[in-house]
Amino acid sequence: MQTTATLLVTGGSAGIGAATARMGAARGYPRVVITYNSDRAGADRVAADIRNAGSEVLVMQVDVSLPEDVTRLFAALNDLPPAPLHLVNNAGIVSPRGSIEDLTPERVRKVFDVNVLGAFEVARQAVIHMRTHQGGHIVNVSSAAARLGSPNQYIDYAATKGAIETLTTGMALELGPEGIRVNALRPGIITTEIHAKGGEPDRVQQLGHTPPLRRPGTAEEVAEGLLWLLSDAASYVTGAFLDVTGGR
Ligand code: NAP
Repeated sequence: MQTTATLLVTGGSAGIGAATARMGAARGYPRVVITYNSDRAGADRVAADIRNAGSEVLVMQVDVSLPEDVTRLFAALNDLPPAPLHLVNNAGIVSPRGSIEDLTPERVRKVFDVNVLGAFEVARQAVIHMRTHQGGHIVNVSSAAARLGSPNQYIDYAATKGAIETLTTGMALELGPEGIRVNALRPGIITTEIHAKGGEPDRVQQLGHTPPLRRPGTAEEVAEGLLWLLSDAASYVTGAFLDVTGGR
């Protein structure tokens, strides 16, 4: 893959974001910017792999739910040599398992702050950056949960991903005339630490066999789709939702 673009992956310290950043460097992005929230060591490991692949790397601590952190991120991007920006809007959290009765305003606000307000602000500042630099493309990380609603699990999390899909549709329509493509990818049940962080360390073991392909997905299988959506191979694709769910 020949590209001059800078790859920006929010939540690049673990899971899907880490796999995407590593694969992006291996596939020829000359510069990869990764953000982490709390896992500095994880981000450093990913950064070392990016350097070993021959790409430049910038690592930044960014809590996407804090607008001032997002502003600091894009100020740093402004200082890099000009290049198109390819954004993987990936940082996210899940809620603990619960029924509708458990969805208190405090709990719902917490997941919306990161998954919705955070993703919106990253997307907003990315577009400002693209307009004043050399354009770019965006892929928002949704979830099969947006389709499935996650009953008795986390309807609030599913609803954050519904919002991400509406954001994707609106941005694709608004920005298409400028050549900025905006797509979303829906991972299914993917083996990462997000399930344990949400209080369900055995979720992949319990549910991983349920999709038609009868196994959980890997972060690398998701990264393939994310990088394809950003690449010239997807040059006529915008406003699309790519399911990487094993058929679920
Ligand atoms: P993960 O392994 O837990 O990684 C999540 C990443 O997001 C980490 O880098 C984490 O940073 C970062 N993050 C969390 N809160 C943040 C915040 N407030 N500000 C900035 N960064 C933050 O999760 P994953 O499974 O790779 O999930 C990545 C995306 O895929 C999420 O949007 C998730 O909803 C979506 N997804 C995952 C699955 C799945 O089965 N794994 C399925 C559907 C959708 P630190 O670790 O540094 O704190």
